[in-house]
Amino acid sequence: MRHSVTLQPFGLSFDCAADETILAAAQRCGITLRYGCKHGKCGSCKARIAEGMVDQEGASEAALTGYERDAGLALLCSAYPVEDVVIELADGYREEELSSGPPIAEYSARLSGLRNLTQDIVLVRLDLQQPPAMAFNSGQYVEIEVPGTGSWRAFSMANPAGDDRHADLMIKLLPGGVASEYLRSRARIGDTVALRGPYGQFCLSLGTAPIVMVAGGSGMAPIASMLGWLARQGSRRPITFYYGARSVRDLFWGDELLALQQQLPALRYLPALSESGADDGWTGERGLVTEVLERDCGNLRGAEAYLCGPPPMIDAAIVVLRAKGMFSSRIRFDKFVSTGPNG
Ligand SMILES: Cc1cc2nc3c(=O)[nH]c(=O)nc-3n(C[C@H](O)[C@H](O)[C@H](O)COP(=O)(O)OP(=O)(O)OC[C@H]3O[C@@H](n4cnc5c(N)ncnc54)[C@H](O)[C@@H]3O)c2cc1C
Repeated sequence: MRHSVTLQPFGLSFDCAADETILAAAQRCGITLRYGCKHGKCGSCKARIAEGMVDQEGASEAALTGYERDAGLALLCSAYPVEDVVIELADGYREEELSSGPPIAEYSARLSGLRNLTQDIVLVRLDLQQPPAMAFNSGQYVEIEVPGTGSWRAFSMANPAGDDRHADLMIKLLPGGVASEYLRSRARIGDTVALRGPYGQFCLSLGTAPIVMVAGGSGMAPIASMLGWLARQGSRRPITFYYGARSVRDLFWGDELLALQQQLPALRYLPALSESGADDGWTGERGLVTEVLERDCGNLRGAEAYLCGPPPMIDAAIVVLRAKGMFSSRIRFDKFVSTGPNG
């Protein structure tokens, strides 16, 4: 059974199967809608259903409240059409935006690298086999099918845009996680891994504004990709990167960031440790990364921010940035919510 979906105010229509989400159908038709996690948890794809009904049991209460549902709002990443629907896109959508973004495709890849970065974060390299290259923007993510499980999980590329023959992923190993267990115990160099993407709209704007970056844990991945890309462009933009970790042994990518500083002279890197001990020799910033952000930065009107990591860190960082004068429209973020079915 198929239904028609119309996007207003542009009058653009496409078909959507009853068992397909509206976002997936749009992507299949090459239409770029705004979204984040694709799992009904971040709220980036919220839109108003002007006509018709959708089924959206998969949307989390945190991302779509009962009040919003009653007001006719839906999360397009987890809304299935029950009949023909008309959707009113949020203010500020431009028609060109609907046809922007690198094409999404399925790839087969070969696991060619697996290295511990910390006690619980691994660097995974997947070499693309078929097709052999993927165009993507720094900040985007792919989904991988965890070998032998049929489960798909989302991970951001850490390699810069233009480096298109492989995907480098920084993956935090979670207790009992499907991808985590594969990487911990079964993964072997040479394994074949199905991959699809690139997804996401957490991308750099091409202006000249000073940049503030805030990341925690494996949220380093898209930031590393963005910094790598800015370095390749020879960017002179002032960049301050606040990175939060618990202790010295949770820090990684320091040498790579040092090397990037040679190419990005206006890059400041401020790692902050929330559980640093008195005897660990740490002389850098202490406290939550958002506390360090608050202490360190002055007025941020005119600057822009890129935030990536656990949702509580992002929510706290947004409050600080707004209090420092940054416009909400200049704050971009990627919440690393669980992409498992029940996580
Ligand atoms: C856009 C995006 C980009 C991302 N990029 C990255 C990245 O670059 N690096 C990264 O590390 N992460 C990233 N994530 C997060 C990552 O996709 C999730 O953490 C993913 O779920 C991990 O997969 P997993 O298979 O290891 O764990 P899952 O199998 O998804 O499980 C996650 C956790 O939930 C627990 N769990 C699962 N089911 C249940 C249940 N029924 N009851 C109780 N507990 C349960 C598991 O035990 C585990 O601890 C990203 C997420 C998004 C949305």
